[in-house]
Amino acid sequence: MRLYGLLILALALMSGAAPDSPPQVICLLPFAGITPAQTKAVEQAVAAFYGLPVAVLPPEELPASALCPVRRRPRAAVVLDSLHARFPSTPQARTKVLALTTEDIELEDPPQKPHWGVFGLANRVGGNECIASTFRLGPGRTDRLIKVCLHELGHTLHLPHCTSASASCLMRDAGGKVATVDAEKEYLCEACRAKLRW
Ligand SMILES: [Zn+2]
Ligand SMILES: [Zn+2]
Repeated sequence: MRLYGLLILALALMSGAAPDSPPQVICLLPFAGITPAQTKAVEQAVAAFYGLPVAVLPPEELPASALCPVRRRPRAAVVLDSLHARFPSTPQARTKVLALTTEDIELEDPPQKPHWGVFGLANRVGGNECIASTFRLGPGRTDRLIKVCLHELGHTLHLPHCTSASASCLMRDAGGKVATVDAEKEYLCEACRAKLRW
């Protein structure tokens, strides 16, 4: 019992949280096709940017249930739902999950734009699951992948889309344009930074 208490304390200190807070961890889940180099780059960037521990999970296949039959692309929201069921955040371990895929993920039913391909999706602001896709970012553009990952994780850390005038804040809505991603820096404006919480 005493040893268990010490372990919890050590984990809490490692995570930078107060000793009485449960540990926080970001789980990085590479789906099939994502290279070890991409996973490593995202792991290092996320840990450095948010100052949180990152645990890399073994690669796996996208859930078959997520496939939309219309354009034969995975529905991002269904992938996030499946992750939500598997990685419950408990009082003992508060977990955010970031999945990576090479597949062209889509939003199935946005008004005006059904089956709309996206760079990434978070299930909601302050939710626990998000996903980023390399498909629309261009080959070898790990720099863009990292920015999309930091953006989606920002949503899980309670950041809505940025409404400040800053063109370089990561939380701007890219609206499907890589030009917007390229204009962003690995940077959060002051207004967004103030809203950041686990
Ligand atoms: Zn967003
Ligand atoms: Zn901002």
